[in-house]
Amino acid sequence: MSDTTEPDLHSYDTYVVAFSGGKDSLASLLHLLEEGVPFENIELWHHDVDGREGPGLMDWPVTTDYVQSIGDVLGIDVYFSWKKGGFEREMLRDGDATAPVCFETPDGEVVETGGNGGPGTRRKFPQVSGDLSVRWCSAYLKIDVASMALRNQDRFRDSRTLVVTGERAEESASRAKYDTFEVHKADLRNGTRYTRHIDQWRPVHDWSEQDVWDIIRSWEINPHPAYHLGWGRLSCMSCIFGRYNQWASVREVAPQRFEQIAQYEEEFDCTIARDESVREMAEKGQPFDLDEDLVELAMSDTYDADVLDGDWDTPQGAYGESCGPI
Ligand code: SF4
Repeated sequence: MSDTTEPDLHSYDTYVVAFSGGKDSLASLLHLLEEGVPFENIELWHHDVDGREGPGLMDWPVTTDYVQSIGDVLGIDVYFSWKKGGFEREMLRDGDATAPVCFETPDGEVVETGGNGGPGTRRKFPQVSGDLSVRWCSAYLKIDVASMALRNQDRFRDSRTLVVTGERAEESASRAKYDTFEVHKADLRNGTRYTRHIDQWRPVHDWSEQDVWDIIRSWEINPHPAYHLGWGRLSCMSCIFGRYNQWASVREVAPQRFEQIAQYEEEFDCTIARDESVREMAEKGQPFDLDEDLVELAMSDTYDADVLDGDWDTPQGAYGESCGPI
């Protein structure tokens, strides 16, 4: 908890932007740049929800390369991190420890750490809740991954770091309660051998969705293909907060993934939404207006489209069906 709502913005050595590739983290990044934070002091950190070991269940395949492309065009370093085996391995824990975390470093290494915890069993999807103790995907696959990468790199010692994240109050009642500025959970400013000063700032916390699209439009950045297809929010294509139209669209875009998720619900005898299965939700929904070329782009490992778009137009997914608070 902090008694101030704004950081002393130019007092930090490093600015770590938690960058899903979605509109809110992109708006946060652009705001930092407009405030004059030097490009070379900013890093984009992207957490692969599916990890890197399997075919993937939740993430858009194109996201990794879209994120890298944004970094390349803006001249900002990008670092990826993930929990080994990602969402699926964590969900299938059956008397096992949570998997190690892997993160990239500036010298090109991939460091693996953790994985020595006690045994635990999940065998169910995260709960559709604002409570991160039961919505384990956000905590285990994003927030904790970032904290592990911050705690396990000496370069953050005796240094000031600002972690920038894109939560907005307008998204949900639980997000509205977040502090705009606070001490990050990986902070160690009173350490005895060394210090690690890390604050967290949510620069777009009080922004409207209109504000977010306005800054993206003014920089002419092409939004992630998911928004053009009709999704209201990143990061996961198969986000647990999806409702009828999203699940109808997932079934169209990625039938094998949809079937895998439906089968897991049956195997666990516990559905994502608890009161309805994804099959039932898809039946009640209407797929978005799915352009074939965009589907191919979104389901590709390569972002083969322009990052900057001089003919910027509001994407189909803007102001529409959202995937809930993530
Ligand atoms: S996007 Fe949805 S499913 Fe993916 S990690 Fe976030 S809350 Fe979980």
